[in-house]
Amino acid sequence: MADFWNTSTDVIIIGSGAAGLSAAIEARQAGAFVRVFEKRPVTGGNTRISDGGLSAPDNFMQKQQGVTDSPQRFCKDILRAGLGLNHPDLVDLFARQASDAVDWTRSLGVRYTARLDQFGGHSVPRTVTIENNAGHTLITAMTNRLHQLGVPIHTRHTLDRLVTDASGRVTGVCLSCSEKTSAAAPDSGTDISPCRIRHIRADRAVVLATGGFGSDVAFRTCQAPRLDDTIDSTNHSGATAEGLTAALKIHAMPLHLSWIQLGPWGCADESGYGKGARFAAYSVFPAGILVDPFTGGRIVNEWADRRQRSDAILNAGHACIGIVDHTGAQKEVDSLASCLKTGKIRQFDSLSDLGTAFNMPAESLEQTVAEYNLWTTCPGPDRFGKDPKTKTSPLETPPFYAIRLWPKIHYTPGGLQIDTRARVMDLSHRPIPGLFAAGEVTGGIHGAGRLGGCALPECIVFGRIAGRNAAATG
Ligand SMILES: Cc1cc2nc3c(=O)[nH]c(=O)nc-3n(C[C@H](O)[C@H](O)[C@H](O)COP(=O)(O)OP(=O)(O)OC[C@H]3O[C@@H](n4cnc5c(N)ncnc54)[C@H](O)[C@@H]3O)c2cc1C
Repeated sequence: MADFWNTSTDVIIIGSGAAGLSAAIEARQAGAFVRVFEKRPVTGGNTRISDGGLSAPDNFMQKQQGVTDSPQRFCKDILRAGLGLNHPDLVDLFARQASDAVDWTRSLGVRYTARLDQFGGHSVPRTVTIENNAGHTLITAMTNRLHQLGVPIHTRHTLDRLVTDASGRVTGVCLSCSEKTSAAAPDSGTDISPCRIRHIRADRAVVLATGGFGSDVAFRTCQAPRLDDTIDSTNHSGATAEGLTAALKIHAMPLHLSWIQLGPWGCADESGYGKGARFAAYSVFPAGILVDPFTGGRIVNEWADRRQRSDAILNAGHACIGIVDHTGAQKEVDSLASCLKTGKIRQFDSLSDLGTAFNMPAESLEQTVAEYNLWTTCPGPDRFGKDPKTKTSPLETPPFYAIRLWPKIHYTPGGLQIDTRARVMDLSHRPIPGLFAAGEVTGGIHGAGRLGGCALPECIVFGRIAGRNAAATG
């Protein structure tokens, strides 16, 4: 058995997104020797390409702007969007620690835009955004910290298998690697030998932080057959399920795998996340309307949660049109300018020109907008239940902008069951010794659907918990 292991360390982290790097920092700061393994040539996963929005109750920006919020209120919003499938103990813990997670990123040097957003399904503005919407700055701040702490990050190393002993305890990992990395490890083990398959022993524990499976067409169509390769995804290409299945193979408990979230703001005229999605998310949905081109009528409360809005478009059966006027478009001018150049957003001097361009029934769009504008002057919700508190100015200032929207796979709320100590649970509802998990590879927190800006703080909250507990494992 001595020859089986190529080397050892105290805590092995698999995955270098927000969850994995948070775990690595905490585990090292708790005194453990740590190695991070990442299958891709670059670190960061979906975190790197994210918009950097973090939702948290009682956060520093809410305090500056006098917005009243509470963890209880946050929990209620999360449970509503999750259709009550959420595990309440995890939601409660997340809600109480989300604001600390934001402050922790600030302590690492991450800076935030002086803006507070309210996304669909949140009952108050509570989302702070990393400067320039740049999720990659979170990864840079975390990797800088790990560098200071002397923690090596080995890229091009893919977890193939979790190694267990006769009692079922996770004792290490089997990785395949595509090239030798030069990172020097501050531990007592020898440096990693240059073979293709490597067995690394974890003297304390393994933390699985391999993210979601939004890009894994085979796995996701098995869970939800309608989400085949005709539906695009916003995720990075490495968002696949092999980390998750490695845990399932040692009898970890799966949760909610078929609840796959689509982003209603996906632009039908570009692939991946793109720039149109940002315009739709930050401008069209908060300040405009969503219209079915076949009828010229609205189809949903534009402030509903992502699941409700995506389902409304999918039920229409074709791309729907997001419309906003000049005033609303000022909320996201950068992506507007770039999408106008590429034709993903179209500009019109009048609503009637816009309706004609999309073959809407004559005058239907003018009627829809007149009804909508009347609502913005009346008390009470509209016929879709749109909350009067979300009212913005009427759609009346030309030019008008239109974008074709078709949902894209964005997030996988299902995954491994963990407890409040981030221990992975088995099929008999017992923790699997030596195995922790955090981030999108886990399930149960968001239930049927996640609210905007809730993934990154959740990765940090549970990543930090996983790292501390992994380091404390005897
Ligand atoms: C375009 C986009 C925008 C988003 N914007 C926001 C936002 O503004 N706010 C928000 O809260 N959420 C946002 N999200 C969601 C959020 O980014 C993710 O849920 C979160 O980053 C997941 O973090 P993670 O650490 O769990 O996984 P990731 O960041 O995806 O990291 C997992 C890492 O594990 C690696 N990996 C996978 N399998 C293996 C393996 N077998 N062996 C070794 N390594 C492996 C992957 O390559 C990856 O690098 C966005 C998502 C996308 C796609």
